[in-house]
Amino acid sequence: MPPMKMGKPPTFETPEEERAHRKLMLAAAFRLFSRFGFDEGVAGHITARDPVVPDHFWVNAFGQHFGSIRPDDLLLVNHDGEVVAGEGVVNQAAFAIHSQVHAARPDVVAAAHTHSTYGRSWSTLGRLLDPITQDVCAFYNDHALFDDYTGVVLDVEEGKRIAHALGDNKAAILRNHGLLTVGRSVEEAAWWFITMERSCQVQLMAEAAGTPVLIDPEMAAVTHGTVGSDIAGWFSFQPLYQRIVREQPDLLD
Ligand SMILES: [Zn+2]
Repeated sequence: MPPMKMGKPPTFETPEEERAHRKLMLAAAFRLFSRFGFDEGVAGHITARDPVVPDHFWVNAFGQHFGSIRPDDLLLVNHDGEVVAGEGVVNQAAFAIHSQVHAARPDVVAAAHTHSTYGRSWSTLGRLLDPITQDVCAFYNDHALFDDYTGVVLDVEEGKRIAHALGDNKAAILRNHGLLTVGRSVEEAAWWFITMERSCQVQLMAEAAGTPVLIDPEMAAVTHGTVGSDIAGWFSFQPLYQRIVREQPDLLD
């Protein structure tokens, strides 16, 4: 199969330019998550590693609605959980989970977690997703189950256990809780979250109607290489970014 021709992620002259880009993509991702209904009260966070100070990350302020976030609303948090730029407080669970994921995975630029409906529903089954569609093959042998639930994650030790369960995969299903995805860009992590949430919906619907036919392992692995690559994740986010800028131009204010 010839490689698919796709656009390429932007490159930057300075870490400051890259920081501005990451913050804009993070704000756009929050607005898209709101647009898709992934917000549930104050739950949920997406983080982006800071390219200037790589052990710091950008995150949403606790209690701000996803749908109105602008780049200037984001908080920069250090490795002790202190807010060093921006106004607001950081969700303790966001720090407990994301700080440990960013620390355990130097390759990870961004991580996303919300209490989206279908991911949360699927998480109650304590099962990995099966290769039943082309799209879900992005997660074939590339997602993990955190097979435990010990209450709201407020402790970095619990975040460490989640990061350990995630391993070198692009996603984890947190049992009785929801989904967690990571990526080498904000765009990628956000896209994996969106498509994983829909894959949970698809498997729930398919199994409610009957017994889905599985894609055979060899073809699932090949398809993983196509739809599950870093670049495919980044590229899949592009039309969604175009959509949110067109619908909500104040994102760029
Ligand atoms: Zn949560």
